Amino acid sequence: MLQRPIIVLIRRIWVLGIIIVFIITLIGAGSIKLTSVISSSLINKVIVIDPGHGGADPGAKNSGLQEKDINLDISLRLRDSLKSKGCIVILTREVDKDFYLPGYVLGRMAKRAELDQRINIATDKNADLFISVHTNSFPRPNTYGMETYYHLKSYPGKVLAELIQKQLTQLQSDNKRKSKAGDYYLINQSKMPAVIVEVGFISNPRERNLLMSNNYRDSIAEAIGTGIEHYFDNFPQGLRESIQTVSQEGPPSNSEDTYKVYFPSSDLDNLVPEDRYINRSVWSKLTLYQKSNLVLNELIQGPLTVTSTRTIAPKTKILSLTIQNGVAIIDFSKDIRDDFPGGALVEDITIKSIVWTMTQLPGINGVSILINGEYGDSIGGHILLDHTFPIQS
Ligand SMILES: [Zn+2]
Repeated sequence: MLQRPIIVLIRRIWVLGIIIVFIITLIGAGSIKLTSVISSSLINKVIVIDPGHGGADPGAKNSGLQEKDINLDISLRLRDSLKSKGCIVILTREVDKDFYLPGYVLGRMAKRAELDQRINIATDKNADLFISVHTNSFPRPNTYGMETYYHLKSYPGKVLAELIQKQLTQLQSDNKRKSKAGDYYLINQSKMPAVIVEVGFISNPRERNLLMSNNYRDSIAEAIGTGIEHYFDNFPQGLRESIQTVSQEGPPSNSEDTYKVYFPSSDLDNLVPEDRYINRSVWSKLTLYQKSNLVLNELIQGPLTVTSTRTIAPKTKILSLTIQNGVAIIDFSKDIRDDFPGGALVEDITIKSIVWTMTQLPGINGVSILINGEYGDSIGGHILLDHTFPIQS
């Protein structure tokens, strides 16, 4: 009678042992599964990274630094970081080269063909994301800050830009810049969510010094990579284009005795209107053409306040101005391009300042910009002037 409880006990220990082994196996399998879930949002995602400029096109320059070199170096670091997380990464260029068609480095079609080649790589590879890396420069040395751009109509692009911006801002706690919609040819033409990352201003002494250090370049690459990772955590399927228009404010119409001239704020973060007063009876007698000419000349002359800045070269001339079907067609002298002071961010805000200043006039709903008689050129090489810019751009 004594033996039975012992047998039962032994049996119980056996059963218990089997259960424990079973539980350990479960936990083991579970934890393996858990870790693969955490990193799997990036596995086999195809990311095309585009180091901006290259070869014959150095991009922005300052104190011996060239934008093309910084863009490439940070892109290579980003490639390594993303590859280690399981992505398939393709660079549009891995060396110092450009994509100009042979014999077409200059001229209005050159830049478009150059950018098209970069976009084609992303299309051919069926990329999930397209990331173009750029560096800024501006004559005012105190302007600084990393920034991201997305296409106005791309909701996934906006999310991606915001997530990357959030990570970049953690490297730069005093950076108040937010991701913005921008009218850049690269992100306009890409078939997949696309973002331009501006890694900082080589014209700002502090940021230039940081940008020269390997550690800082690594942290930028890490930050962009983490932003991309968070994007795929939100959209595991890799959301494709383009769902929703993100609203953006435009200029208010002018009142009867003032008009406004929109200048970039000195941190290049937004447009600030400056009022210009004019006798109401004089203003009311002006034709739309005369009003347009007046406000445009004020814009070229530059701001009166020190908190705003000039981005149109002062020698720029208006070669012609016509208004057709509500579109102001402005032909600027080539100074606007040849003496252009900055990178992509400056280019974007320069065009916005022209568009906002012109479209405040009732009767003007859009602006077309020519340079030296040519349509489709570019002021700084990121935005092609091959379309009419509507009020909200
Ligand atoms: Zn650039």
